[in-house]
Amino acid sequence: MQDWPLRVMRLVDHAEREHGDGEIVSAWADGSVTRTNWRDLIRDSRRMAQALERLGMKPGDRIATLAMNHSRHLAAWYGAIGMGGILHTINPRLFDEQLAYIANHAEDRVLLYDRAFTPIVERMKPHWTTIEHYICFDPANGKHGFPDWIAAESGDYVWFEGDERDPCGLCYTSGTTGNPKGVLYEHRSTMLHTMAEASPDIFNLSKRATVLPIVPMFHANAWGVPWAAPMVGCKLVLSADYRPDTMCNLFRSERVTHSAGVPTIWLTMIEHIERTGEELGDLKYVTIGGSAAPRAMIRWFLQRGIDICHAWGMTETSPIGTCGAHPRGWEGMSEEEQVEYTARQGRVPFGVELRIVDDEGRVLPRDGVSSGRLQARGPWIVKRYFKAGEDATEDGQWFDTGDVAMIHPDGSMQITDRSKDVIKSGGEWISSIDLENAAVGCDGVAEAAAIGIAHAKWDERPLLVVVRSPGSDVSADQIRDHLSGCVAKWWLPDAIEFVEELPHTATGKLSKRTLRDQFRDYRFA
Ligand code: ADP
Repeated sequence: MQDWPLRVMRLVDHAEREHGDGEIVSAWADGSVTRTNWRDLIRDSRRMAQALERLGMKPGDRIATLAMNHSRHLAAWYGAIGMGGILHTINPRLFDEQLAYIANHAEDRVLLYDRAFTPIVERMKPHWTTIEHYICFDPANGKHGFPDWIAAESGDYVWFEGDERDPCGLCYTSGTTGNPKGVLYEHRSTMLHTMAEASPDIFNLSKRATVLPIVPMFHANAWGVPWAAPMVGCKLVLSADYRPDTMCNLFRSERVTHSAGVPTIWLTMIEHIERTGEELGDLKYVTIGGSAAPRAMIRWFLQRGIDICHAWGMTETSPIGTCGAHPRGWEGMSEEEQVEYTARQGRVPFGVELRIVDDEGRVLPRDGVSSGRLQARGPWIVKRYFKAGEDATEDGQWFDTGDVAMIHPDGSMQITDRSKDVIKSGGEWISSIDLENAAVGCDGVAEAAAIGIAHAKWDERPLLVVVRSPGSDVSADQIRDHLSGCVAKWWLPDAIEFVEELPHTATGKLSKRTLRDQFRDYRFA
């Protein structure tokens, strides 16, 4: 057979050749909508590769972006990687300290950014020691920026060729402990991940699909959608603005069939739809991941005939680890059974292997009862963090995800907690995720977080912190009554506190660490 390195620019060439007219729609932060197609967008990528070379960039150099989702950002991804560079997507929601650390650690040489993030750029410039060139994607009228920077080039450019094991992307985890860690994606790992992603049991993408990822391109590469889209040639809708009314408009006007986002995004969307009666148009397939999808949310979508794919993964797993496609016999299941099944995090695609181990490292059975540390291996799972002195894996193979999970006999995986979030009561574990899921199933509860509070007798006992839905006056007793029907009696929180809002991380997840800090001195009455 022929030698055909699995380099991602082949995906881009394929889109240009086979899906040239396929549409890419961008909804910009100022409310305007622009349209392009794969052919024109990729021509801009070739121009950008030339422009980068003119700046003196070399293969292996890190090219950073600080931007929301839009076609220029996408063109820049392909342009940076196409000239042999390594694309470093920076999350603008990180703290200044982290922003300084990651750009310096990555040794970024160029930064492309959205005008909306100019304040961050101006603030960080004195701290970023390696960035030589700053280019704005959408400069104010008359100012120099991305469009005229690339317009000076011909677009007559042949992508840099190299080994399929060369790095192409860099993404830092938001670092719940210590400094953020860089995960370096390879051409080959990205290519294999993309092939798995489009398949029916994962994102179920095809040329007939219209996809609107509500995941930023800086969050684990928008879960790989910007690679899967050129592969299958689907219509791609990108939005720089995640407000629910903008999303609903786009769902309808662009006839979006597939979307993906974290539970917080869908929560806001559901609240908006319940309030306004807006419609979701042709939406058929929604991927929810990044944190556990609550049962109430799953039920809401199922009752509207929309398929939920509950996905689990992390920056270290590129990010797809598991996805919850329907099992055989789905149609014969009751709604409750369907909800229960979907509340699990799904099954692995070919290319990911999972196992659970106990504290001594013994492999536990896939019996749907034993729960242990979740470990993963495969060609798109991290081996060693960027510039780290040693591997992040055990025996050179298994990567410990920091999650605690069960694996059921049918292969479906169920996260019970993050290892640092489980509440240890009297030597037994209480799953904070299960408590939270049960709590948001109670009418009037918009969001809930469970954390362990030190307890003289039991070591730790659960505290539930709740955000009420708009207009609700649900009481602690009502929530406790509801919980009694869902969880074991000894799991019931010792106290329930109400807050206006819960802290979230830069990727929109509940920040248990911040919450634990906020309640550090809390004592049960
Ligand atoms: P960060 O929050 O640092 O950006 P990631 O986005 O990589 O990190 O988060 C990965 C973690 O998110 C997983 O280890 C897991 O704890 C959690 N997670 C992701 N998907 C799910 C899911 N479907 N259910 C429960 N937890 C999830």
